[in-house]
Amino acid sequence: MKCFECGGEVLKTLGSVKMTRSDGSLIIFKGIPMTQCRQCGEQYISGKWSEKIGELMRQKETLVFEEMLSVPVINLYQQTIGKGDSDLTKRMAD
Ligand SMILES: [Zn+2]
Repeated sequence: MKCFECGGEVLKTLGSVKMTRSDGSLIIFKGIPMTQCRQCGEQYISGKWSEKIGELMRQKETLVFEEMLSVPVINLYQQTIGKGDSDLTKRMAD
């Protein structure tokens, strides 16, 4: 199998998948069997495993977390427009 994005070589691996919950918080699922492109990092997960992830996302109240991570967050809007920089959208388009 070749990568659909870039045509690179894909390898079987155990990877992690980031999902966003309805409240905007993130869940990371680790140890997902997948194939991943060596070149661009595109992940291909089999139907069985994406179904499993979907299932777990639906029963979020009963999920058991192995670990909690704190993640750095940068709010570009607050740091730029929030400080009176109204040219941001113009410059982002460059
Ligand atoms: Zn690729």
